[in-house]
Amino acid sequence: MRFLTIRAKVTLWYTCFMIVFAAVILGLLLTFSDTALLNRQKKQLTEAVEDAAEDIREGEDIDFFDDGIYLLRYSEQKEYTEGSPPDAFPLSTPLVAGQIQTIKTVDSSFYVYDQKLNGQANQVLWLRGVTPTTKAGLMNRVILGSAFLLLPIMVFLSSIAGYFITKRAFLPVKNIQETAQKITESGDLSMRIGLPPGKDEIARLGQTMDHMLSKLENSFLKEKQFTSDASHELRTPVSVILTESEYILQHGSSFEEARESMEVVNRQANKLSALINQLLFFTRADRDAMELQYETVDIPALIEDLVHDSRTLAENRSITLSTTSKLSSTTEYRVDKVLFTRALQNIIQNAIFYGLPNGHVDITVYQSDGYLSVKVEDDGIGISNEHLPKIWDRFYQADPSRNEYRPDNMGLGLSMVKWIVEKHGGYATVESTLGKGSTFILYFPEK
Ligand code: ADP
Repeated sequence: MRFLTIRAKVTLWYTCFMIVFAAVILGLLLTFSDTALLNRQKKQLTEAVEDAAEDIREGEDIDFFDDGIYLLRYSEQKEYTEGSPPDAFPLSTPLVAGQIQTIKTVDSSFYVYDQKLNGQANQVLWLRGVTPTTKAGLMNRVILGSAFLLLPIMVFLSSIAGYFITKRAFLPVKNIQETAQKITESGDLSMRIGLPPGKDEIARLGQTMDHMLSKLENSFLKEKQFTSDASHELRTPVSVILTESEYILQHGSSFEEARESMEVVNRQANKLSALINQLLFFTRADRDAMELQYETVDIPALIEDLVHDSRTLAENRSITLSTTSKLSSTTEYRVDKVLFTRALQNIIQNAIFYGLPNGHVDITVYQSDGYLSVKVEDDGIGISNEHLPKIWDRFYQADPSRNEYRPDNMGLGLSMVKWIVEKHGGYATVESTLGKGSTFILYFPEK
C-alpha cells in the first residue's frame, strides 16, 4: 500500500467499497425478493378468487384462467365440477375455506385458495384458485440473473470513472508538488502555485502555501535589505575614522590638530558602537533569544526619571517637557524595566529631536481596556501620510534631508520600540500631521 499513489489508493478503496455494496444488494435481493414476490402472488390469488366469487353471486360468467390464476368450481359435496386446472394439479386436494395452502407435487408446487359461497338460487358451491409457485421463482431468477450480470459491470464502470475523477481532483496536488520541487531546485521564492480560487481543501492548501511563500519571500528580502543597510551604515563611520586617522598620521604637525582629529574619530567610533549595539539587539531579537525580565516598576516615577535625563537635550532645543499620570488604582506594573525604558526613551528623544524650537512634548500615562498606555505628543515637524506606515521599518528615515534635526539617526529606533512593545504582548500607534506634530501611543498589557 505504501508504494501506491493516493490516486490508486482512493480508487482501490472505492472499488472495494463498491464490491461490498454490490454483494450486500445481491444478498438483500436474494432474501427479500422471494418473500415479496410470493406475498404479492398470494394476494393476487385471494383477490382473483374473491372477485370471481362476487361475479358468481351476481350471476355473471367468470374466466377460469386469468393472469396466471386458474379457477376451479367444486360442488357443495366438494366434487370438482368445472374449471381449468393447471397441469399436474391434484384435483382431490381437500378444500379449506379462506386459507392459502401450499401444495407440492413431484415436480411442481402450487398456492391454493378456496372459498365457499352461495351462487344463484342459493345453490352452495366451492370456488378454488390455483397458481403455480414457479411463476414467482421464475421472476426471481430473472431479477437475480440481471443483478448478477449488471452489478459487476456497474462496479467495473464506476471504478474506472472513480479513477479518472480522482485523477482530476488530484491534479492541483501534482501542481503543488511540482512548484515546491522547482522552488527547492532553483531557490526562487517569487514562484507561486497559483491555483484558481476555490473553497475546497486543496484550493485552500494552495492558497495557504502561496501566502506562506509570500511571507517567506518578504522576510528574506527584508533580511537582505537589513544586511545591506547595516553594511552601508557601518561603512560611513569606518571610512571617516580611516580618512581622519590617515590624514593626521601623514600631515598632523601639532597637538591641537591631533586633538581635533581624535574628537572626530571618537564621535564616529561612538556612532559605530551604538550601531553595533543596535544590530546585536536585532540579531538576538530575530533569533528569539531575548527573554523578558519582568519586574514591578512604578511607572510615573520611571517616566519622571526619563524626563529628568532628557531635560538638557530639551533645553538645548528650547522645548518644554511635561508629564501627567492618570493612573488611579495602582501606579505599579510588571514590565521588563530595561526594555520598557529603552522604548520610551526612544519615543521621547524622537519627540524632542523632531520638535520645533519653543515647542512642547507632553507625556501622559493612563489605563485603557486592559492596557497600560503611554502617550507622547509633540508639536514638531510631523510626518507625511506617505511616510507614516513605513517609519516602523528598520533603517527607515522619513526624509533623509531632515537629518539636520538628528545627524546621528539611523532609522532603527522605532522598529526597536515596536519589537519591545509587541514582545510584551502590546502594540504601538502613531498619528501625525506634517508641520503640526505627532502623537505616539505605546500600549502594554496590564500585568
Ligand atoms: P531614528 O532613531 O533614526 O530617529 P526612528 O526609527 O526612531 O529613527 O524613526 C524613523 C523616522 O521616523 C525618523 O527618521 C523620523 O523621520 C520619523 N520620526 C520619528 N519620530 C518622529 C516625531 N516625533 N516627529 C517627526 N518625525 C518622527
